[in-house]
Amino acid sequence: MKFGTKVIHAGIEPDPSSGAIMTPIFQTSTYVQDAPGKHKGYEYARTQNPTRGTLEKNLAALENGIDAICFSSGLAAMDAILKTLNPGDEIISTNDLYGGSYRLMTKIYEKFGIKSVFVDMTNPANVKKAITKNTKLIWVETPTNPMLSIVDIKKVCKIAKEGKVQVCVDNTFASPFLQRPLDLGADMVLHSATKYLGGHSDVIHGAVIVKNKKMAEALRFIQNAAGAVPGPQDCFLILRGIKTLHLRVERSCKNAKKIAKFLLTHPKVANVYYPGFKDHPNHKVAKAQMDDFGGMVSFDLVRDDFKIATKVMSNTKLFSLAESLGGVESLIGHPASMTHASIPKKERLKVGLTDSLIRLSVGVEDVEDLIDDLENALTKI
Ligand SMILES: *Cc1c(COP(=O)(O)O)cnc(C)c1O
Repeated sequence: MKFGTKVIHAGIEPDPSSGAIMTPIFQTSTYVQDAPGKHKGYEYARTQNPTRGTLEKNLAALENGIDAICFSSGLAAMDAILKTLNPGDEIISTNDLYGGSYRLMTKIYEKFGIKSVFVDMTNPANVKKAITKNTKLIWVETPTNPMLSIVDIKKVCKIAKEGKVQVCVDNTFASPFLQRPLDLGADMVLHSATKYLGGHSDVIHGAVIVKNKKMAEALRFIQNAAGAVPGPQDCFLILRGIKTLHLRVERSCKNAKKIAKFLLTHPKVANVYYPGFKDHPNHKVAKAQMDDFGGMVSFDLVRDDFKIATKVMSNTKLFSLAESLGGVESLIGHPASMTHASIPKKERLKVGLTDSLIRLSVGVEDVEDLIDDLENALTKI
């Protein structure tokens, strides 16, 4: 089955009790049993829910995994993965990383004796150098946030295999339509389904997709034992969003390409970060491991000033100033004061995250209107 068919059909059957073509929202906490222990496969809704089960089957198919385990948010899904580790274990992670992932590793897990080291993974040799006998997990985010660097998933996985270390790829920015890390050698994929999978900015949700039965069992155990499960309505919304994933992401990619080109020639723009440019330092890797270059574009200004950047963002009308990404509507954000405010300026500048850096999540609107909106805002500075 090809991708555009999978999003609509994989794991999804009409409801056997009614024929309803759409998976019902099973808004129930428990299930009636015929006799003690004699039931239809469902006992209590933290453990199993049919709406969630259908979504899990669909997600496993999209990422070519054997199972998917859903959680109440992307970070809850990541938390479940980290709970499989033990005190003394070490994580090697991408250095240009989603702020919440960084916070979870450093502020929560470090105090339980799980250390994270952050390396520039655009050079996979840095991963090899950082591996110790305690390394148990390599955490890859690609494309990275907000600099849109690309990590070579195949190369990192090869290094990890030699050291017998598990690799998890946060595939939130690319979505399975553009990139399937399990096929490239990764052991696990993480999604903040809040973003492209949901696609309509109306739900918080997360998932882990695996290709190994033992890992599936471990995560399934944690899902039930720790209980950070999504509600059935949230699962329904993700199922609904996924049906148009390929159409939305395709359009976002097309729009992002045109916007990146427009920004590149604009006299007030200094740098444009977009992996689709031939001279992007990781363009070749992006081309090899992704089917297109995604809907995210970052840029900074010739006058690298916090206040001037703020002015651009308060003058766009279609690009809404907000955190998050991956919805049908375009968003604009300022990493230095929003998502990455907790990272010291010196650290920010090391990866090129300047005071005027602006991040766009390009939606599916008509691109001419989006370009006009940016042009108007840039004229005002
Ligand atoms: C948003 C995001 C997360 C966290 O997901 P939530 O659903 O907000 O908990 C993790 N990784 C990336 C790359 C994200 O963009």
